[in-house]
Amino acid sequence: MENIDVIVDEVMKQLHLQDNSFEVEASGRHIHLSRKEINALFGEGYQLTKVKDLSQPNQFAAKERITIAGPKGSFQNVVILGPERKDSQVEVSLTDSRILGINIPVRESGDIEGTPGITLINGGRVVTLSIGLIIAKRHVHMTPASAKENGVENGQIVQVKVEGARPLIFDDVVIRVSPDFATYMHIDYDEGNACGFKRGMRGHIIKS
Ligand SMILES: [Zn+2]
Repeated sequence: MENIDVIVDEVMKQLHLQDNSFEVEASGRHIHLSRKEINALFGEGYQLTKVKDLSQPNQFAAKERITIAGPKGSFQNVVILGPERKDSQVEVSLTDSRILGINIPVRESGDIEGTPGITLINGGRVVTLSIGLIIAKRHVHMTPASAKENGVENGQIVQVKVEGARPLIFDDVVIRVSPDFATYMHIDYDEGNACGFKRGMRGHIIKS
């Protein structure tokens, strides 16, 4: 069975190369840490342990998981994504924001100026970030080749139709182009539920 799946995947990939669609991935809440916060939460010089490669080149899920806490509620076992970044950033959904009890803006990754902070807990080690808590703006990572094929450029805002049992058109989707990316659309779990997300779902740009 597995072999057939591999062949079907490959055939589908070839077909999709012609229609410019891309795979959609739904990301759960997660944390990016800077060196400063890794030192504070795990000890000086600690290195995150990779357990799973992500679709974006060089990005990985770490074995280490920690608690994030807001004034109203908290989440345990939140995954940390590596490698470490210049600034720590915590990405949650709008549903999560209500449970945490914090008003959180929708932002592009890295655009954290003026955002709220949150408390990070690893056992007895506690760090409170003053900024860095965001709801990630939905986006499509694209290679320069995919961007060219789709007729879009870095920073452009588009609409993306996601097919499936509960098809949905997402507006205000930002295109991010880099040779360091693989072409995938990223949405969060709220958006995933809204479109009946299933692994392998695809989307395509319907308006640029
Ligand atoms: Zn992404």
